[in-house]
Amino acid sequence: MIPVNEPLIGEAESANVQECLRTGWISSAGRFIDEFEHAWAAYCGVEHGVAVSNGSAALELAVWALELEPGDEIIMPTFTIVSCALAAVYNGAVPVLVDCDPETWCMDVARIEERVTPRTRAIMPVHLYGHPVDMDPLREIADRHRLAVIEDAAEAHGATYRGARCGSLGDVSCFSFYANKIVTTGEGGMVLTDDAALAERLRSGRNLCFRDDRRFWHTEAGHNFRLTNVQAAIGLGQVERIDELVARKRRMGARYTELLGGLPLQLPVEREWAENVYWMYGVVLAEGTGLDAVSFAERLAERGVQTRPFFIGMHEQPVFRDRGLFAGERHPVAERLARQGLYLPSGLALTDDQQDAVAEAVREVLGR
Ligand SMILES: *Cc1c(COP(=O)(O)O)cnc(C)c1O
Repeated sequence: MIPVNEPLIGEAESANVQECLRTGWISSAGRFIDEFEHAWAAYCGVEHGVAVSNGSAALELAVWALELEPGDEIIMPTFTIVSCALAAVYNGAVPVLVDCDPETWCMDVARIEERVTPRTRAIMPVHLYGHPVDMDPLREIADRHRLAVIEDAAEAHGATYRGARCGSLGDVSCFSFYANKIVTTGEGGMVLTDDAALAERLRSGRNLCFRDDRRFWHTEAGHNFRLTNVQAAIGLGQVERIDELVARKRRMGARYTELLGGLPLQLPVEREWAENVYWMYGVVLAEGTGLDAVSFAERLAERGVQTRPFFIGMHEQPVFRDRGLFAGERHPVAERLARQGLYLPSGLALTDDQQDAVAEAVREVLGR
């Protein structure tokens, strides 16, 4: 079976982890935490990095830091991971959804403004599968309505929007370093911001809001979202190779696009203002193939190709419907993507031969 994803761990990561074990710095203090935070923030072109235990925690902490009132609203795409909506819900806020752009699959920026209300406090754009959201018009709406921008860049390490790195485009931005992400620490995440006071608040919130002036005295409710030095040690090694990792992804994307041309499949795009990093190479079945994503995945699996389905919109999720959220909402583009889309093996360890075999299997299933 050709796996959908495999991380690529190098020598530096291994040596760094050995150092942690040898010196005993295996918990959430140690040099690798600081170095990883600085290296990743610098790569993204942002002042401050606050490492956390995973990407979902990064989002939750970023929303927490905004000090919202219960019932405040955050506008986000329906087509994303559950972590985005949960970050709002766990902080007493209400996720408000918009449908996707049919080509980039990211949130349709033209539909944001119609969802702004007097309770709106933030917009949470998510760069999906490696392609950036169209951030300039989004920023213009945010500025006009005085909304914070919480950027979810967990699928877009190294991607650029009009030359600027994803992760530098929000007031606060969030990354995941889960095993299938372009930079991984096994489990891990980071929040980035240029705002020094906000960074301080994020550091406090990540560490249970311990106070410097009096130990075990708490005036605010925080979280334990700490990353370990061992995880940061892996991350630092990865960041040192980021240009190579991104180049591999972009080459893989270009190769798939070439190999899969002329089939009844919608392939990822790259807008002229974007550099797509093809975190996952998604394909969407066209009308008239007689297949949906489930049967397509089954047939590919029979041919030794592992795939993963696309996201299912938040407005379709029982966990939120049961809470009275999104009643009666329809988001037709997201619904179509959820039923017709999947992603092909896209890992950093994927070889050209494996990629050729995937393309061959896809052609066979689609009868071309
Ligand atoms: C992976 C991911 C997350 C969550 O990251 P975890 O580290 O798995 O908690 C958040 N947002 C997006 C868009 C993701 O792809």
